Amino acid sequence: MSRCVKCGRELVPDEIGLHKKLIHRGASEYMCMTCLARFFDCSEELLQKKILRFREMGCTLFT
Ligand SMILES: [Zn+2]
Repeated sequence: MSRCVKCGRELVPDEIGLHKKLIHRGASEYMCMTCLARFFDCSEELLQKKILRFREMGCTLFT
């Protein structure tokens, strides 16, 4: 199980996918939704919407 590199929380696959999509596809360390939101200075809600959109587009990082 991967953990958030910032806060140590256990990550769900969507968070890993989002990190890869937004930061770096080949990343080996990931941030959770909360830390990603802080990093981008946006709301977690916005990130959730992005995940939905990526999934609608058929992105293979989100299953
Ligand atoms: Zn975190």
